[in-house]
Amino acid sequence: MGGFIAGGHAEVGSVTWGILRDPGNILAIRILTAEEEPRVREITGPAIETVHHAYGGNGIIIEVEMPLARAEAWVECVVAFATFADAPRFGLAFASADGIVKKLVSPIAAPLTRFFGPLRPACPEGTAIVLAMVAEPSLAALRDLAAEMGGTVTLEAAEGEGPDQVPLYEYAWGHTHFQAIKADRRHTYLICIFPSHETLETITRVEAELGEELWMHLECVRFAGRPTAQGVPVLLYEGREQLARLTAALERLGCKVANGHTYFLQNGGMKRIDEAQIAFRRETDPFSLLNPGKIAGVDEVAGAEGGAADLPASGWAY
Ligand SMILES: Cc1cc2nc3c(=O)[nH]c(=O)nc-3n(C[C@H](O)[C@H](O)[C@H](O)COP(=O)(O)OP(=O)(O)OC[C@H]3O[C@@H](n4cnc5c(N)ncnc54)[C@H](O)[C@@H]3O)c2cc1C
Repeated sequence: MGGFIAGGHAEVGSVTWGILRDPGNILAIRILTAEEEPRVREITGPAIETVHHAYGGNGIIIEVEMPLARAEAWVECVVAFATFADAPRFGLAFASADGIVKKLVSPIAAPLTRFFGPLRPACPEGTAIVLAMVAEPSLAALRDLAAEMGGTVTLEAAEGEGPDQVPLYEYAWGHTHFQAIKADRRHTYLICIFPSHETLETITRVEAELGEELWMHLECVRFAGRPTAQGVPVLLYEGREQLARLTAALERLGCKVANGHTYFLQNGGMKRIDEAQIAFRRETDPFSLLNPGKIAGVDEVAGAEGGAADLPASGWAY
């Protein structure tokens, strides 16, 4: 939990509950400071944002308070579509169907399914798929919507009892590109968010222009309260210029792009580093012991290099 709150931002469940920083998702964090005399501090309210996604630079998280949802018997489904465009069309309709209880909706383009090992029999050659986790009572509604939108349900299994005997989310979110890395370590990814007012149109434009090089992997999420898609597309890495070119193209086509290839926190684009953030770090970690050098310009570390810090990143910090 500490690692996810310090390093993560959105994940399995975000299709229903929004992203981690959304109000109500983290209720309280208890930290241990790295002062001469370490103190336990209880962080609540807007100050939670100074600790969340700070990569541990603002104290050691020792306890968190988060709301729980009702326990569900989740069913894992794969729905196959003849063309890529149909997958996000279904995914967004499914994500927007408020009566359907769901945990995961991930549209994925055909080229990526060849890295899906034991799941491959559920991914017919050349088809795009949507990975979905749905509460058992909502399964019939998923089947109906899939049939109505031209999809074929190729897999249904209880959570963790599919062909790989691991939960289906092991193929989603940050894990999709990890499946690709197993085949070739040159695979890497970009992270972007599609605009909620014209999500499908933007996805279609991006796929048409970049789909050959940037294999589409989307995650349906609620972002600022509206259903949209986050992209974690996978590519075969050729160099920094390629990442810069693709980032610029995604931005030109209407996405906001974060930078997952930088060491520096402020270059990632998911967190605003302001005076309050820096003051809080100095207060809780006056000797710069926790993740030194992570915030560029605050506690420089000899030899620290920002990696691809110079890539453009419009991000979605606030
Ligand atoms: C394959 C893969 C997929 C991923 N997919 C996603 C994704 O889809 N969405 C997403 O949001 N993130 C994703 N991530 C990043 C993810 O948030 C972190 O990897 C994970 O949540 C961190 O948990 P961990 O326990 O492994 O922490 P670590 O990786 O050990 O730590 C993450 C950061 O938090 C700090 N930290 C760890 N514990 C504490 C603590 N108790 N107090 C303060 N700081 C602490 C560490 O110093 C580090 O900076 C992915 C990472 C990987 C490797």
